[in-house]
Amino acid sequence: MIPTEFDYKVPATLDEAISLLASDLDGAKILAGGHSLIPAMKLRLAQPQLLIDIARIKSLSYIREEADRILIGATTTHYELESSELLKRICPLLPDCGKSIGDVQVRNKGTIGGSLAHSDPAGDWPAAILTLDAELVLVGTNGERTVNADSFFVNLFTTDLQAGEILREIRITKPAGKFGQTYQKVPHPASGFAVVGIAVHLSMNDDGSCKSAAIGVTGVSTKAYRAEAVESALAGTNLDDNAIANAVAHVCDGIEANGDLYASRDYRSHLAQVHTRRAIQTAKARVQ
Ligand SMILES: Cc1cc2nc3c(=O)[nH]c(=O)nc-3n(C[C@H](O)[C@H](O)[C@H](O)COP(=O)(O)OP(=O)(O)OC[C@H]3O[C@@H](n4cnc5c(N)ncnc54)[C@H](O)[C@@H]3O)c2cc1C
Repeated sequence: MIPTEFDYKVPATLDEAISLLASDLDGAKILAGGHSLIPAMKLRLAQPQLLIDIARIKSLSYIREEADRILIGATTTHYELESSELLKRICPLLPDCGKSIGDVQVRNKGTIGGSLAHSDPAGDWPAAILTLDAELVLVGTNGERTVNADSFFVNLFTTDLQAGEILREIRITKPAGKFGQTYQKVPHPASGFAVVGIAVHLSMNDDGSCKSAAIGVTGVSTKAYRAEAVESALAGTNLDDNAIANAVAHVCDGIEANGDLYASRDYRSHLAQVHTRRAIQTAKARVQ
């Protein structure tokens, strides 16, 4: 289908983008990579009257190491994250997640900010961002505020972004000490979206036991979530096969798993357990 008619503006700065958005709170929408919004417009699920294209605002695209933090600009593409040598060295979960997304065209255009703002229940970045306890910096005409990832994702396609706000930056505390990370998914064969996607960060003690675990899950519920019961079951163990098997049995605790034509609720829950186990084993093997 063809989208309904819309106006298109390309602001040169973030301030200009904020003013444009404020000028039409009901009809305007931010356009980043366009790889979720344009399909939605073609299906007429979204009918904005004004698109504000922020993908060309250069100051919104970066990956930086600053003191104990990693700073990522909202329009940084999936490909830039996937191929960042800095991230491969200090936070490999992010490149791992980026390279799992869609195909090369999607990764070249799609942005981390667009993916987080869209909050697709099968999107990959929300699981990684939750696992890393990221902070999201949101700006609007009333100034800037910082939101923790765990309160940013509210529900299906719904975030804490308020009318007139733009996601500007993602902030992550640099992983320290002995740790291992991975992102693993079962991609839908047609779209590449996560039927199940599991992000793992293991923090280890010097004696080889698990100090703490962070496990983000996507594709399984209406929004990405932290598998807290798995995390607490792993902490303090030696991550042997028994400890992992006992822990992953809890990956769907407290949530209602999605079922659809491709994967029933039971099958999806089973996949979540199998791939959480594999992801924990991979992260353990990568501990350094
Ligand atoms: C064929 C195909 C396969 C795909 N496969 C995958 C996959 O495997 N995994 C996956 O996770 N995703 C997948 N995607 C989605 C893709 O990753 C999108 O790029 C992403 O979901 C949205 O990012 P975007 O930059 O394209 O955002 P856009 O489509 O431009 O915007 C999406 C939404 O976010 C809003 N928005 C964008 N940026 C901001 C911002 N900075 N502040 C506030 N609001 C903002 C927009 O207004 C819009 O509502 C796929 C898409 C396609 C077309």
